[in-house]
Amino acid sequence: MRARVLLSLVFTVVLASCMSNGSTMASADYDTGAPRAVPLRVSTSNEPAKALFGPVATASAQAPESFGSYARGCIAGAALLPETGPTWQAMRLSRNRNWGHPALIDFVKRLSAKAATQPGWAGLYVGDMSQPRGGPMTSGHASHQLGLDVDVWMLPPNRLDLSASERESLSSISMQRSNGAYVNSSWTRQHMEVIRAAASDPAVARIFVFAGAKAQMCKDATGDRAWLRKVRPWWGHHYHFHVRLACPAGDNTCEDQAPPPPGDGCEEAEGWVNRILNPPPPDPDPAPPTPPRGPLTLADLPAQCASVLRSQ
Ligand SMILES: [Zn+2]
Repeated sequence: MRARVLLSLVFTVVLASCMSNGSTMASADYDTGAPRAVPLRVSTSNEPAKALFGPVATASAQAPESFGSYARGCIAGAALLPETGPTWQAMRLSRNRNWGHPALIDFVKRLSAKAATQPGWAGLYVGDMSQPRGGPMTSGHASHQLGLDVDVWMLPPNRLDLSASERESLSSISMQRSNGAYVNSSWTRQHMEVIRAAASDPAVARIFVFAGAKAQMCKDATGDRAWLRKVRPWWGHHYHFHVRLACPAGDNTCEDQAPPPPGDGCEEAEGWVNRILNPPPPDPDPAPPTPPRGPLTLADLPAQCASVLRSQ
């Protein structure tokens, strides 16, 4: 029985990460809640791993390394993205999720400097990255566990001197129209240029954005279109786009996702758009729903994650 549950889990993770169909397996890429400061604990029980990772306030005192997969892993020796830099501000500081692999910190700095060259963009407002030791989050995301994922707000920053409380109250804006089939009037050429810059970065494996944005970029992109391959339509992702780095070289137990299918993926994006506009009729004979699984426990994560939690 346990083997069957595990198998179906593996299948679920593969499905959820293949991004190539209209599966309703949403990536749970929404966010609420804030971290609490409680002492470090390590449990080997069935306690949800998010209850162990969520409250830890600082990174582990270890060399930087990501262990496991994007939705089932952790990170040792994470670095903190400074709350404010010359071309970025981290948002929702109370969540304490501006941590990541040093490769991710470098990437955010790089991308924000490029964003700042776009008219109307002072840089980037940076949303959730990872908890200080990665792992499952107390709320929101299924992924973001390795310190290799970052949500970038779609709201073009017009100033980078927001106070901590402004960073709690300010909201991003939606770019979608018709349930995500199209972009709305807030979408600009500059959004495409920022996403193009992200996708053109060799450290980046994938970018998730709502289908209407991918379809619009398919129409508007000129010249080399190879970067479009990394931009994948996904549910949600109209207030922010989500950038996922590939496993850094040398992180040998970090599991990359299979690369996106060859090509620019524009036909696939059209398929998403068509399904949004003309939803298929309900299946008259649906397969029985898979029973919901419990939250991940420490035993579900790579063995190294216990020492990541334990490290003072
Ligand atoms: Zn995300």
